[in-house]
Amino acid sequence: ILAVVLWSKQPPDVPAVVLEKCSGDAISASLRHLTSEPHTAGTEADTQQAQWVAEQWRDQGLDTVNLVPYDVLLSYPDPDKTNTLSVKNGSGHVVWESQGRQTPLWPGEDHPGVLPSFNAYSARGLVQGPVVYAFLGRDEDFRYLDDHNVSVSGSIVLVRYGDVFRGNQVLEAEKRGAGGVLLFLDPGTVSPEGSYDNDTYPNTVFAPPDAAQLGTTMMGNGDPLTPFYPSIESAFRIPEDEAAVPKIPVQPLSYSDAAFLLGHMGGPVAPKEWQGGLNLVYRLGPGLQEPSLTTSLSVHTHNANATVYNVVATIRGAVEPDRYVLLGNHRDAWIFGGVDPSSATASMLEVSRLYGLLLQKGWRPRRSLVFCSWAAEEYGLVGSTEWTEQFTTVLQGRAVAYLNVDMVFEGTYSFISMASPLLWGAIVRAARMVPNPDPKEAAAGRPTLHDTWVHRHPNPRHPGRPKFLGLGSGSDFATFQHVLGIPCMDMDAPSLPLYHTLYETFHLARQLYDPDMAYHVALTRTWALVAYFLSHEDVIPFSVSLYGEFLTEALQDLEEEYSSLLNQTQTELGYLRAAVSTFSVAAKNWTAGLASVDLEDAMAVRAANDVQMMLDRAFLDPRGLPGRPHFNHVVMAPSNSNTYTSDSFAGLQDLLHDLPDLPPKEQVTRWRQVREHFAAVTHLIRAAAGVLTQEI
Ligand code: GLU
Ligand code: CA
Ligand code: ZN
Ligand code: ZN
Repeated sequence: ILAVVLWSKQPPDVPAVVLEKCSGDAISASLRHLTSEPHTAGTEADTQQAQWVAEQWRDQGLDTVNLVPYDVLLSYPDPDKTNTLSVKNGSGHVVWESQGRQTPLWPGEDHPGVLPSFNAYSARGLVQGPVVYAFLGRDEDFRYLDDHNVSVSGSIVLVRYGDVFRGNQVLEAEKRGAGGVLLFLDPGTVSPEGSYDNDTYPNTVFAPPDAAQLGTTMMGNGDPLTPFYPSIESAFRIPEDEAAVPKIPVQPLSYSDAAFLLGHMGGPVAPKEWQGGLNLVYRLGPGLQEPSLTTSLSVHTHNANATVYNVVATIRGAVEPDRYVLLGNHRDAWIFGGVDPSSATASMLEVSRLYGLLLQKGWRPRRSLVFCSWAAEEYGLVGSTEWTEQFTTVLQGRAVAYLNVDMVFEGTYSFISMASPLLWGAIVRAARMVPNPDPKEAAAGRPTLHDTWVHRHPNPRHPGRPKFLGLGSGSDFATFQHVLGIPCMDMDAPSLPLYHTLYETFHLARQLYDPDMAYHVALTRTWALVAYFLSHEDVIPFSVSLYGEFLTEALQDLEEEYSSLLNQTQTELGYLRAAVSTFSVAAKNWTAGLASVDLEDAMAVRAANDVQMMLDRAFLDPRGLPGRPHFNHVVMAPSNSNTYTSDSFAGLQDLLHDLPDLPPKEQVTRWRQVREHFAAVTHLIRAAAGVLTQEI
């Protein structure tokens, strides 16, 4: 009661506190601690960091702090036997071997906890076969090889890391019978001007020749052995060979190693687009130019059980403690985690510190704030997925939004956000209040974070507004949005040159990217402000009418992309158009009607908010997307060919994109699926409109 009285009588100016008190020094101190040693999921150092994060939250005065354990399947390299690609001559002697480790280049990098290069959930084994270069390892790249009679069956497929999630790259190779996969960094994407003699880390943010990108190859989300259910003591665990992990060995490669391999490859010259930043002609293979040389890939990476800990802390809401605004970031890193994730862990600890200060001033948010430090994200969103599987009902009933930050920057070019349209308004409002972290931008007449965002990522349809990206996957928001229908925000994109390498360190984040901590501070402020709007305002500030706009434009895009195919579904399309327009009208009316909600009438406010909270849930199909039972949201889902990106009306796109290539008989079956899914999508959008109009 006291809290309520203080809350209503003396509201401090929360945005002013957030903007003034956000401290680059405090963030930097946390970042230094978090990056002081490797903290790979499931290791002792990771568990200690979980306890350390919990301690910070207790010290900051948060109301509850808990460690939530799960027993899960992770994967590690063998400390004694390095994974290698070797080239042997005709008499079986090894003439060349790839490096198993990245060379330490800065003090502290020579740490015993640094894992040798590996890709998580690779199969263990030895593959002897010719090397084939498959560019980005996408469906179209393998088609190209097919068309040029280069077979990948039984071969070691060399794939370049790019914007495609590596799990998709490995799966495509595996589907075509590859014996193994090598994932290499190309200097064309990770070094300046494509020349690897230029200055690289530790002098710049670009990748040195020895850098190798670690990372998972799992396609599912969560513990591979407990799909759909939490990995608690009583869980049933599926056999490992049924898990969504590769059946073939996979190993990352540096560009110095790739240079040797590509320099010796035989076969036809690869197309222009496939050429990269190495100073040589990229060839397709199969095999090396010198026919007596053979290649073999030996991988000792193995799966292992581990206990991992989410840390979950709450600030109890003063008025609606049973409504949650969640903020989250993963804690585990591949090695030091200088940017991914520790820059954002440090930032989250600053957001919570600011809210701790506000608590001391007698303020409490209207709704509860929940801070989540997720475990084992790097392995496949393990900690967050297990938690959402465990608390599905409570979260669906009570979560207002989930605000994820994986890294506070991916370079300092511009703020980027992916979000449910419901959160666009709140994010824009926050970004408008945050001073521009780039003094040059500010001097150029763009004083806020929002100004540069609009300038560098303009929305082509709506001048003056920034372009939001759709929510794909690749970080912990995925199950919240796509399975539970909880509106999510994320503010990162994995395109740092040194992403997941040994060189993603405190030095990189602090000295090379953000010497003044200005970007850390700007993103922390933005995150804290969005959380404030959502947790504080009587009526949850969801941009409901923008959802109508989003659906309308997504449907236009779909019609444009598949115009000739959709000629055959004019009836279904007509229904869908009508549903979208019904929804848009309902959304506009709803937004207009909100102005007349009597804020003194607690029941009326709660009723309006309950409607708003149902909205993203309304797009969930209980059967999941066609062929993808793990994703339920029919309006947006990770793209089937690249988990990092988002498809709108993903189920329809999945069914339509390769339809013309199918044999006639399969086309018949496919058309039935198209019509069936059209009906589901149409129904769900009408139902969402019905949530707003509240007619039953
Ligand atoms: N963020 C991690 C990565 O990109 C995990 C992503 C995922 O498993 O979806 O490698
Ligand atoms: Ca599970
Ligand atoms: Zn991350
Ligand atoms: Zn990562």
